[in-house]
Amino acid sequence: MSNAACILSLENLKVHFAGRGGTLDRIFARPVAAVRAVDGIDLTIGRGEIVAVVGESGSGKSTVGRVITKLIQPTGGKLFFDGRDVTSVNGFSALRPYRHRVQMIFQDAYQALNPRHTVFEIVAEGVRSLRLAEHDEELAERVSSSLAAAGLNPPQDFLSRFPHELSGGQRQRVVIAGALAVQPDLIVADEPVSMLDVSIRAQILQVLTDLRTQSNMALLFITHDLPVAWSIADRVAVMYLGRIVEIGTADEITFNPQHPYTLALSKATPKAHPATTGEAIPALDGEVPSAARIPIGCRFHPRCPVAVDRCRREDPPAVALSPTHDAACWLLTK
Ligand code: SF4
Repeated sequence: MSNAACILSLENLKVHFAGRGGTLDRIFARPVAAVRAVDGIDLTIGRGEIVAVVGESGSGKSTVGRVITKLIQPTGGKLFFDGRDVTSVNGFSALRPYRHRVQMIFQDAYQALNPRHTVFEIVAEGVRSLRLAEHDEELAERVSSSLAAAGLNPPQDFLSRFPHELSGGQRQRVVIAGALAVQPDLIVADEPVSMLDVSIRAQILQVLTDLRTQSNMALLFITHDLPVAWSIADRVAVMYLGRIVEIGTADEITFNPQHPYTLALSKATPKAHPATTGEAIPALDGEVPSAARIPIGCRFHPRCPVAVDRCRREDPPAVALSPTHDAACWLLTK
């Protein structure tokens, strides 16, 4: 992807947290391995592109979103936005232009909304703090058009309401309107529909898809749900224990998954999902273990039903399966 077409690029991105260890580790002052929440991932997002990052909890997918939105600093690697290295940009003033262009939508809309503010105040907040409106009329126009774009129509009916007067779906639309009001180039949406009823989910996904079409806004969509990823994304990256183990177009990951983890993840989804084909791969059980417990080898090997000796000793490299499809597994190497 050329620089002009790429809005965001992660290069060898790492987020390592200090390990806490147990009581005996502290008594005997034993060294404790760092938790490698994100461990060297490369990812690009094109302008107007929707990329889904899929994985179980503990895979590091939300940490990637928090690095991109500058809520946490990476411990290694680079973050480029619109061709510029923004890895070390920090502080409210320095980050103001970045916050204008990159917004985040959280999973729990109720937590994200100030219960004492009206819908107008909530949606206007970002525009005010970034000083994007020159006068009150422009602010009112931005708030109304954002509410309309998020599917809250007519906007006047919602401006003076408080969060507790809204349904779950309406609250998530208010969060989306708040992000849209600053007219960003990229939205990072962290499990934005996982707390909503199925019927409302489809509507919110449609709002996000329409926004991309109308404004060429890019979207990084973080989810544990492979069918949801398939329904909205152009490309899907599958994460396991801090690494991208498979990446491809939504169709490649859905109809032709190659990594044993992606196959197992597909198997764990409802039967209606078209990727439920990996009969040789049993469904996943148990949770993602701590990355600190698997210092060498493929990180998936303790749960992988087709692991070979080499998997316990060496990390597999990414193998190109097509120009758009990569997977990191020893069984795919020639
Ligand atoms: Fe399984 Fe080995 Fe492939 Fe890892 S490298 S997914 S353990 S077969």
